[in-house]
Amino acid sequence: MKKAVEAYWKGELDRSGLVQAGARLRKANWALQRDAGLDFVPVGDFSWYDHVLDMSTLLGCVPPRFGGFEDEVDIDTYFRMARGRAPCGESVRACEMTKWFDTNYHYLTPELHKDQEFRLASAKLFDEVAEAQALGHRVKPVILGPLSWLWLGKIKGERFDKLTLVDRVIPVYGQILTKLREQGVEWVQVDEPVLVMDLPSPWLQAFELVYNRLQVTGLNVLLTTYFGSLQDNIDLIASLPIAGLHVDAVRAPRDVQVAMDHLSDQKVLSVGIIDGRNIWRSDLGRCLDLLEEAKTRPGDRLWVAPSCSLLHTPVDLDQERKLDAELKSWLAFARQKVREVAALKRALDEGREAIAEQLKAAWRATEIRRVSKRIHSESVKKRAASVTPEMTQRNHPYAERAKVQRERIKLPQFPATTIGSFPQTAEIRAARRDLKAGRLVQDDYIYRMQREIAETVQRQEEYGLDVLVHGEPERNDMVEYFGELMEGFAFTQNGWVQSYGSRCVKPPIIYGDVSRPAPMTVDWIRFAQTLSKKPLKGMLTGPVTILQWSFVRDDQPCSETCTQIALALRDEVADLEKAGISIIQIDEPAFREGLPLPRRDWEAYLEWTVKCFRLASSGVADETQIHTHMCYSEFNDIIAAIADLDADVITIETSRSDMELLDAFVDFEYPNEIGPGVYDIHSPNVPSVDEMVDLMEKAAARVPPERLWVNPDCGLKTRDWEEVEAALKNMVEAARRLRENAQFAR
Ligand code: GLN
Ligand code: ZN
Repeated sequence: MKKAVEAYWKGELDRSGLVQAGARLRKANWALQRDAGLDFVPVGDFSWYDHVLDMSTLLGCVPPRFGGFEDEVDIDTYFRMARGRAPCGESVRACEMTKWFDTNYHYLTPELHKDQEFRLASAKLFDEVAEAQALGHRVKPVILGPLSWLWLGKIKGERFDKLTLVDRVIPVYGQILTKLREQGVEWVQVDEPVLVMDLPSPWLQAFELVYNRLQVTGLNVLLTTYFGSLQDNIDLIASLPIAGLHVDAVRAPRDVQVAMDHLSDQKVLSVGIIDGRNIWRSDLGRCLDLLEEAKTRPGDRLWVAPSCSLLHTPVDLDQERKLDAELKSWLAFARQKVREVAALKRALDEGREAIAEQLKAAWRATEIRRVSKRIHSESVKKRAASVTPEMTQRNHPYAERAKVQRERIKLPQFPATTIGSFPQTAEIRAARRDLKAGRLVQDDYIYRMQREIAETVQRQEEYGLDVLVHGEPERNDMVEYFGELMEGFAFTQNGWVQSYGSRCVKPPIIYGDVSRPAPMTVDWIRFAQTLSKKPLKGMLTGPVTILQWSFVRDDQPCSETCTQIALALRDEVADLEKAGISIIQIDEPAFREGLPLPRRDWEAYLEWTVKCFRLASSGVADETQIHTHMCYSEFNDIIAAIADLDADVITIETSRSDMELLDAFVDFEYPNEIGPGVYDIHSPNVPSVDEMVDLMEKAAARVPPERLWVNPDCGLKTRDWEEVEAALKNMVEAARRLRENAQFAR
């Protein structure tokens, strides 16, 4: 898929080649599901970019800047909406991209105008239905429901209430359903994941209206929710004129009983029992225990399914050649999960004996994992259990620390620094590949990286930065690098999961108690510090981000795993301090991403995540300066927690917002130092000195200048040296001009 799409973008594959590649993939995936024993194959889950964009095009919701369209939105317009460009046509500003609920999968935000019009504008879904039917499949088309789609949309132009668009969008949804019915479809899955969030009551009430109007004779709607519990919404949902309801029984096992109690016997209950968000093999026996509670329901009205789309798990465990057999026996990827679903169905139909072998194997794997020495370390558990409140406290409050830090680390006003990484050149990546493939010995690799570091330090001196970094050349990825050096992590060869468009990530698997056998960064940082008299900032990835960007254990709470990671990092911080490093940055770009969907769960999450960050960062003396970095900017609703991290300095992404995002810090009277990014590293543009001075002056109008730093929005690893050099020289010049400005004189 990735290769086909990227080849098409490059002009190396023509449209028919792309279309054929898609058809081949769908055919294989449908066959796989049917052969495993599933009764329905989903259609409409196949997407060239993301499924929210698919829905937007189906509804003809194409922002005006992409030009009009005749009957249908063509694929190049579709790709232009996604990426700003396509093989045919001019470049335009792409739609905004956002994370899909609490996953690392992104979708393109629908843009909604007050007078937005909708019309059926894509045949893709219907063509694919026909395609699957022609292959002899019983299909279950999947679409994103109107309320979730609207909820995820962003208002453009004049402000208005998005709900007012319901009346306009419903007729098109009606047409979609009617068309599907005409194609002979019996069941359609309508996803409404917003139902697990705290919806304002007008939105909840809208469900009744919408689903009343969406009734099509002979067509059954399976209202589908996932990623959480329906909570108090169950009454409302149960009363909707729908034919069935899907609940996420992994995240909300109690919803099964609740749904049983509320849903009439005439309706289907689809139990999402196989975890679509993680990679663990299910204990089928325990799944059956839960399913059997629901068995009082007539057989054809109890369905078994994964909790959510399997898009969030890697494809096939059988492709892993390097994981050892035991670890592999604990895992299940998408292909394996489909088989689990089928096995459960069979057991419900024919009794447990019918899958006796599978039951035993699954039980054994679970038992072996449960007691395995590989995952349990007495000493790690003991240490995590003996964390005291003092361990999460710096010795003195920020104001006092700042004084001793100023004495130790002599810095000018508006200190200029970067976020950590410098361009990851082709040579760096080649060296890493060579090391992995055995073409380069460890010592030579180290030597090459040291040369990189030396050059990076040299260049920073030349640009005139005040706090230097080593540039992170040795890091393939900010999580994988640390995971590979800690106990309790495993890595796959092919465990890719879609992040956005054709981009995928390969999250590590945290399978056991986490510990740090040896220092992970100290040699590199110490080496870099020997090359300069200026302070060199040590770089670490924070505990919450390591947790969030991995597949995590399901046999203990995340807070427990995070505490173990935090303790390992705490040791690293101590070692850096011992090595004479005066500034240590602990990156937490994924801090906000992990926020639970319902607000009522935020407090608990923020409590343990803040505690873990502080556990990692608080073991140092007052004169050691702790930085953190976060590269998203919606701080408003969690600013108290950010302040509670008690980092001496926080660097954040702000350049695109014209410093308006700093307002959260101002309103809260954020007490510590801030480096609002002045260089947008997601763009190849080099900002001018004036632009950056201007941004910083805006910042200084909000935050006392003595607490401001000057830095880019994020790491520079995706940029090339030419841009970086020009931008950083301008940035240093901007800092110099600010210092000369009498208005800011201290
Ligand atoms: N220190 C990391 C870097 O500069 C931070 C990356 C991030 O925030 N995602 O690359
Ligand atoms: Zn960042």
